[in-house]
Amino acid sequence: MRFDYVIVGGGSAGCVLANRLSADPSRTVCLLEAGPPDKSPLIHIPAGLLGIVPTGYLNWSYETVPQPGLHNRRGYQPRGRTLGGSSAINAMIYVRGDRTDYDEWAALGNTGWGYADVLPYFRRSEDQARGADEYHATGGELAVSDLQDPLDASHAFVEAAVRAGIPPNRDFNGARQAGAGLYQVTQRGGRRCSSAVAFLRPAAGRPNLTVLTRCQAESVVLEGGRATGVRARVRGRHVVIGAGREVILSAGSFGSPQLLLLSGIGPPDELARHGIELHVELPGVGAGLVDHVDMALLYRSDCKDVFGITPRTALRGVKGLWDFYRRGRGMLTTNYAEAGAFFHSRDGLERPDIQLHFVTGLVDDHSRELHFHYGISCHVCVLRPRSRGSVRLASRDPRVSPLIDPGFLGHEEDVKDLLAGVRKARDIMDGAPMARYRDGEMYTAAARSDDELADWIRRRADTLYHPVGTCRMGMDEAAVVDPTLRVRGAEGLRVVDASVMPTLIGGNTNAPTIMIAEKAADLILQ
Ligand SMILES: Cc1cc2nc3c(=O)[nH]c(=O)nc-3n(C[C@H](O)[C@H](O)[C@H](O)COP(=O)(O)OP(=O)(O)OC[C@H]3O[C@@H](n4cnc5c(N)ncnc54)[C@H](O)[C@@H]3O)c2cc1C
Repeated sequence: MRFDYVIVGGGSAGCVLANRLSADPSRTVCLLEAGPPDKSPLIHIPAGLLGIVPTGYLNWSYETVPQPGLHNRRGYQPRGRTLGGSSAINAMIYVRGDRTDYDEWAALGNTGWGYADVLPYFRRSEDQARGADEYHATGGELAVSDLQDPLDASHAFVEAAVRAGIPPNRDFNGARQAGAGLYQVTQRGGRRCSSAVAFLRPAAGRPNLTVLTRCQAESVVLEGGRATGVRARVRGRHVVIGAGREVILSAGSFGSPQLLLLSGIGPPDELARHGIELHVELPGVGAGLVDHVDMALLYRSDCKDVFGITPRTALRGVKGLWDFYRRGRGMLTTNYAEAGAFFHSRDGLERPDIQLHFVTGLVDDHSRELHFHYGISCHVCVLRPRSRGSVRLASRDPRVSPLIDPGFLGHEEDVKDLLAGVRKARDIMDGAPMARYRDGEMYTAAARSDDELADWIRRRADTLYHPVGTCRMGMDEAAVVDPTLRVRGAEGLRVVDASVMPTLIGGNTNAPTIMIAEKAADLILQ
């Protein structure tokens, strides 16, 4: 078992790398994925995400440590555990962030990561159903399209947002991010286009690419400061998989720092606490966790044209199966979070600081709390939170989940921003176009003062599923990887996934992670 490149983690980033690095038949590539192959229809039927996100099925379903900013509640952190990783269980929203996010990365010393540098990599992957233009491309592996059959309620939300003063925006990834509109999604013909579907399937027949599923990496083998392979567990057996050129960690924002720490790369005191031999002193490993904190306003509904856990919706679901398999259309092609908005919570801001996701059903506690009636939700998220947290080891046993601490709402300004966002979201949801769909705000209806609302925010807020920064790219002492994504102080070892983001971008993180992997492939092959 020896290859030129060993990639750990077959998620959003790992599948891109597997494709690009194996394009040259003279290089051998091995992709390790802890989860099983992505055969379940719940992955490929978009609406099936409801059967995965709240459960432990194909999902690491992590919990955070108690969060003081959330009245000491533990947060929930779903992560995909199958080929495609989190892109196999996510809400498929295609958003790149604001152009200034990337210019900020470059200004922090990450040469080559400014907006003008990364735009070609976004375009390289893209197969945009609306056609090509300055911002978009066709012919790439990743299908980006409009939703097949968005509900009327989603159109009503956009109208309500416009009436509340947010300009309409047809393309959040074009010239301007601010505005309200329907989201574009990573779907082809109504089916989910995960990173595995897009990038791995077309490369699956290459003799120089080996994909090992149900294979969990346990640490990187380091010899004299150089990564020479990966120790892994396959069906209960321990194996070493050799890497002649490079080991690339793409295990995600929780998996990659955990693997570095288990390999003796990290802060000396933390490694010593777990009896792990120090190989490379890197204090920043796991240190810079930042995630989008999100608060949802929930509304009961008497209108049967939205989703509900009801016999009628179940019957429609059966008919939906017919529509889905015959025509790639119908209610099962929904991603639930069909519409949204980006806006400024106060005057004088250079770019939007709040994002809304309008959901065509009730999403209470990540759908772990069920309500047996119709409803709608509006999720409010702070795009550039100031609160920071960490990922640390709970044990030196690789099978034990790491300690995840997003530090949600540790910074008072995040509460203020979320409050402003929630007030605006309420204006929209109280607007005339939404009257048909709402029948009473749940939980927060009586909360009017800032203090009351802030208390509800601390009682109910949690992740929007965008953890980044735990193997941060940069040039400073606390950075884990350099701008070519090499682990500082080690040879033959890179990290390529969402964990390397120097700052959290203002938007959803799947497209940016795929972009990072596209650029990384070029850096590696150079
Ligand atoms: C519920 C949910 C909804 C989301 N919705 C959206 C959305 O609508 N739009 C959007 O842009 N973003 C969304 N995101 C975020 C986005 O999907 C992630 O940011 C992105 O997928 C991260 O990619 P990654 O490559 O860093 O990690 P992942 O895609 O999570 O990949 C990591 C992979 O590594 C594997 N792995 C981990 N440890 C090991 C190990 N030790 N050995 C072997 N394999 C290992 C995992 O099983 C996984 O397959 C969502 C995320 C979630 C969880």
